[in-house]
Amino acid sequence: MKKCNRCKQEKDKKEFYKNKYRKDGLEYVCKICFKKKVNDTNTNDTNTNNLLEEIKQLKLENIKLKEDIKHIKWFFDNSDIRINLLEEIKQLKLQNMKLEEDIEKIRKILEDVVNKMNFLKEKVKEFQDKINYKGELNVK
Ligand SMILES: [Zn+2]
Repeated sequence: MKKCNRCKQEKDKKEFYKNKYRKDGLEYVCKICFKKKVNDTNTNDTNTNNLLEEIKQLKLENIKLKEDIKHIKWFFDNSDIRINLLEEIKQLKLQNMKLEEDIEKIRKILEDVVNKMNFLKEKVKEFQDKINYKGELNVK
């Protein structure tokens, strides 16, 4: 009989795994406790690995955040660039307005051209009608 170091139960020596490095040639915990111990170690390892991975991710996020802050700070520190950018945006907006105005003007010109074309068509038709009329007169 041998007392398990973990569950403190007296158990038959068959209930212990062999370990040639120990004085009595057996593990100091019973087979059941040994399996539990291995599982615990695995779980702890997994937990530790998860934690380490989480810390790694957090560190990476932290670095990214610091980078972002740096960029934002740089942007505000460089007010010249900011003003230039704002000026550029303003110019672009003005250009856009001008473009819209141009488009409106072109639209009006096109409308006018279409109206003139219709007027001309109307005139051509009138002229043709007159010719036909005269032609008929000539026939008679
Ligand atoms: Zn035990």
